[in-house]
Amino acid sequence: VLGEVREGLKWLFQTKEEVLVFAASGTGCMEGAVANICSPGDRALVIRGGNFGERWANICQAYGVQVTNIDIEWGTAVTPEQIADALKADDSIAAVLTTLVETSTGVLTDIEAVGKVVAETNALLIVDGISGVGAVECRVDDWAIDVLVVGSQKALMTPPGLAYITLSDKAWAKVDS
Ligand SMILES: *Cc1c(COP(=O)(O)O)cnc(C)c1O
Repeated sequence: VLGEVREGLKWLFQTKEEVLVFAASGTGCMEGAVANICSPGDRALVIRGGNFGERWANICQAYGVQVTNIDIEWGTAVTPEQIADALKADDSIAAVLTTLVETSTGVLTDIEAVGKVVAETNALLIVDGISGVGAVECRVDDWAIDVLVVGSQKALMTPPGLAYITLSDKAWAKVDS
């Protein structure tokens, strides 16, 4: 069963990479991503347009990551240009953390466009797809998503308590550094 699930998760994430299974809530997996990928003192850009964007910022702060927020009005989506401008203004940003579907407002982020912007930089694109994946399109490899976190109990409609995460080669290099 586990082998079948692992293959199925790769299909769900649209990635050739391994998808790791966490015995945790979605939030636990978000924390795992920050704790293992970011180091204290790293700089991160967080898109805050609702409750879950704020959660990324709170987790980063708890781990000593220096956060720059893009605060957008709740109910609106960040534009790729806003992210491009922030990355140009500070080339030391190591990670961009954003949300596929901001469940608290229902806003969908254009991750494909954001991926094109972030892929041109050294920063990693870390996406909370906890509620979105399974409901809306999300293609890890084609869209250059470096880290994607998904929860079991939202669009996947399976019991709570599991979460899934995948990392690109660029993200694994950061884990190893
Ligand atoms: C529900 C949700 C979370 C938190 O997941 P839990 O499993 O409740 O910890 C994080 N991000 C988004 C977008 C969510 O919808």
